[in-house]
Amino acid sequence: MAVRLKFLTEDEQEIALALRYWAMDEEGAYLERVSDLVPFREITQPGAVAKFVRQICWAYDENQVCRVCNKAMRVNGRTDAKKTPQRSYHPCHDCQEREREEQDKRAAAQRAELEKQLAPYIARARTIAISYIDLTDDAALILQAIHALVGQRLTQGTFNRVDCDELTPMGADDFIDRLYAQDILEDDPTAACAEAYFIKDGTVWHKKSLAHYFLPPDTRLGGAEDAFSLLLEREFSDAEALTNLWLDYAVTDVMRYLHYQCSMHNQILEFEAIKKIEGTARHGLRKYSVAQLWFIMWKVVRDAAALASRSYYSREKAVATIPTKVRKQLEIADQGSELRNDWSRPESHITGSLGMIFNSKFDLDEFSTGAKVIEMFTRLGNKKRGGVELNELAVAFMKGTLENQSSLPALEAFTEMVRAGLSTGDALMETITRNPELFR
Ligand SMILES: [Zn+2]
Repeated sequence: MAVRLKFLTEDEQEIALALRYWAMDEEGAYLERVSDLVPFREITQPGAVAKFVRQICWAYDENQVCRVCNKAMRVNGRTDAKKTPQRSYHPCHDCQEREREEQDKRAAAQRAELEKQLAPYIARARTIAISYIDLTDDAALILQAIHALVGQRLTQGTFNRVDCDELTPMGADDFIDRLYAQDILEDDPTAACAEAYFIKDGTVWHKKSLAHYFLPPDTRLGGAEDAFSLLLEREFSDAEALTNLWLDYAVTDVMRYLHYQCSMHNQILEFEAIKKIEGTARHGLRKYSVAQLWFIMWKVVRDAAALASRSYYSREKAVATIPTKVRKQLEIADQGSELRNDWSRPESHITGSLGMIFNSKFDLDEFSTGAKVIEMFTRLGNKKRGGVELNELAVAFMKGTLENQSSLPALEAFTEMVRAGLSTGDALMETITRNPELFR
């Protein structure tokens, strides 16, 4: 018999039944039909015999060896037993059990290692503080826009990327990545789910989509909401940072429109093509408005769709012409042809909270041309810079003359300049350069 039995019972009748059930000739054919084994006590159905035999003895098929440990495989009933020797596809019961135990051990070790490595990470996240007043203008503006979406959770709790989906028409990922890379936003492992953090090549990693973020407290005022008012009431003046942020935002507004047009014509842009168009659009936005770029996107996608319908053109080939066509349209506009600026925002296409902040603070929208935007931010920067210099000049004038005990002649020289028609700043400057002896 190719099946070895291990009895779990000492009942002789039961042992006899099991032996009859498994009895076979040399070719592996069973000696008795299962239906001939019933009735046995309360068992009357042949279908119940295998189950009962399984309960009173374990059967090992010598024809079937485990592919891991080479021992005979345990089988459940006659149909499982093989007539010819072979290796089993699955490991035996014992090997499976051992594999599972090893797997559990590995998982537990990984969890322990993760916890060990996360501990200093968590401790650091709890002690970190940043100076709100030293944040750049673009970072402050993005934080205001995130605050408009998540409220107090920005400073008092945590938030995730999905919460910020409506930051721009194309989501928030790039903007959150930027703040995170600058250590302005931090992630809090204690707020995220267990799957968010993992160890790869010995260091802790996290899945961005599962991470929870927060703005660390201010170094001077702590984490209260009134510390955040430093950011809300901030005066903006960094022309370059503001211009670049506007361009980054405006590109999302243009690209959202392009994707919408492409989906209407069932056109799919390749990743490289998208990157190329983003670059071209960003360049175009230095001169033109978002709405003017929308007009270009509408036109080139429509033209590509018309091309795709021609018999000698494939859809892929037609879509591939879009990046070059966008640039061509900008070149035509640069040569003097008028670009429509009355293109309207589609129903489902949001402005996003960053766009709303640009609108409320600087009166910008999709119709603001890039040339005007850059001019406005440059003016803003100059005004602030002028203000600072004038203030410093006045302080130097007062301090210098007080220390030098030359206040009266200095003031007389100053008023003379003003009377001659000079502005306050110019008069201060002229007084100081023309009368160096008063300021020694
Ligand atoms: Zn085995």
